[in-house]
Amino acid sequence: METTTHGGATTLPQRITTTLIDRLTGMVVAGTAGQSRAPYEMIEVYTGAVVGELPQSSPEDVAAAAERARAAQREWASRSVKSRLEVFARAHELLLAELDTIADLIQIGCGKTRRMAIEESCDPVMVISHYLKHAERILKPIRRGGAMPVISSSAEHHRPKGLVAVIAPWNFPFAISISDSVPALIAGNGVVLKPDNKTALCTLYGVELLRRAGLPRDLIQVVCGAGPDVGPTLIDNSDYVMFTGSTATGRTIGERAGRNLIGCSLELGGKNPMLVLEDANLDDVIPGAIFAVFGNSGQACMHIERIYVHDRVHDEFVRRFVSAAEQLGATAGASYTADPEFGSLVSVEHMKRVAAHVDDAVAKGATVLTGGKARPDIGPAFYEPTILTGVTAEMDHATVETFGPVVTIYRYTDENEAVRQANATTYGLNASIWSTDLARAERMADRLEAGNVNINDGFVATYSAKTTPSGGIKQSGVGTRHGDAGLLKYTDTINVGVQKKQVLSARSAMPFDKQLKSTLMTLRLSRRLRIR
Ligand code: NAD
Repeated sequence: METTTHGGATTLPQRITTTLIDRLTGMVVAGTAGQSRAPYEMIEVYTGAVVGELPQSSPEDVAAAAERARAAQREWASRSVKSRLEVFARAHELLLAELDTIADLIQIGCGKTRRMAIEESCDPVMVISHYLKHAERILKPIRRGGAMPVISSSAEHHRPKGLVAVIAPWNFPFAISISDSVPALIAGNGVVLKPDNKTALCTLYGVELLRRAGLPRDLIQVVCGAGPDVGPTLIDNSDYVMFTGSTATGRTIGERAGRNLIGCSLELGGKNPMLVLEDANLDDVIPGAIFAVFGNSGQACMHIERIYVHDRVHDEFVRRFVSAAEQLGATAGASYTADPEFGSLVSVEHMKRVAAHVDDAVAKGATVLTGGKARPDIGPAFYEPTILTGVTAEMDHATVETFGPVVTIYRYTDENEAVRQANATTYGLNASIWSTDLARAERMADRLEAGNVNINDGFVATYSAKTTPSGGIKQSGVGTRHGDAGLLKYTDTINVGVQKKQVLSARSAMPFDKQLKSTLMTLRLSRRLRIR
């Protein structure tokens, strides 16, 4: 295992200078109303060393940021979609050119591997690319027939909401904050973005790059602070909220948005199952499951925490999966190079929470097949890839999202029972099925209660398909991102109806029984001629 010194000195890449960090932290809207909050100390996860101070916004700062973004939004909304897209065409190039610095900043705050940080950096590029191709079509007014063909018509116009609050978590801090802001901006909105304190640097750099690409400076503002401190003012000053995070916080955000009668999109947690059918090809399943469970050290909303394996392949699956997890663990390292394939958890605090789930399961009778220990010798927040068996309902890990590199394997014989168990959760974000019989797997997909179902894949097949809306059902969320719906949600639909001749209103000169007869005849005729 690669090791590095920690507990004081940073190991930051040369690209990351104090000048860059100061420039980025200087972008946070804070101190505008004279009030000041104590700054937040950002640390490098690999070492625990302080890398800079992040200003904290007060509610007054949030209101000021919203006002600024609103003022800029009016001019932005008056531009054609084509002209707005020109900014994002430049942003696409800039983001690709700056991939390494973005990945450095992601790694500093998250402690994830280089490979994962690079993959994350590419997500906004993919989202931009998708909407560069489709936004004009999606946002174009759609003319539809009116009640009276030819004489009347109606049309859907898509008008920007105004100001969108984007609230992002720490696990994919760059991808989520930028990829969720981009469609809001393309649709003609202003954005006030609130990243998590721990991982704000990469988000700030993403915003800097959007501005460098030509986005009006005030159109997107970044506020930082503790959620409960800045959140309420942010929601109260917005016309729509795009939130990604835990189900508990999502409920609080949804309640406030509901009270304000504004829309919201809530992308929340999961307790995602994988089903390995008896005809699955284990040569594919093992690496697929390793990535689905341990990718991003298990800190992905769509990652797998429960695996149901058919009795016929169970023992071989367990043997090979445990061995592969141990090989993965042996590559762990605190490094900005691409060598380690397994990274840190985001913080010591989070690592303790993950360890507590494992300890609780073990204390109540679960067996650890591999892992189950922290690795302070590699970095302060490292925890081994961990596989459990014998997990029962009273253990936290059975039902609560662990959000770490921990998974339980369950054996099944009856497919219906496996589906029932997979669905026995309050969550409904993602599910994965492995089988060589695609038709059978697709039939099973229809029975799984999840907003995303990946066949012969863990979660990348659905998440990377920017063409198709993706979101959670049950307590995993409200609304979707990606696809046409992921852009249209940032707009209000305005119905513009036109009457070319006065035929729809009742004519006072005509006796009522004649009017009624004419109406009934029109309704019957329209139905017969399939006019409506
Ligand atoms: P979290 O809910 O604690 O925080 C998310 C964000 O909300 C942070 O920026 C936080 O500061 C802010 N926040 C907290 N309280 C707030 C309040 N009262 N008002 C406004 N903002 C507030 O979640 P987390 O621990 O940062 O992220 C991990 C969770 O996110 C996991 O449950 C994971 O499954 C989920 N997640 C979901 C998706 C998805 O697409 N469904 C993607 C990534 C992460």
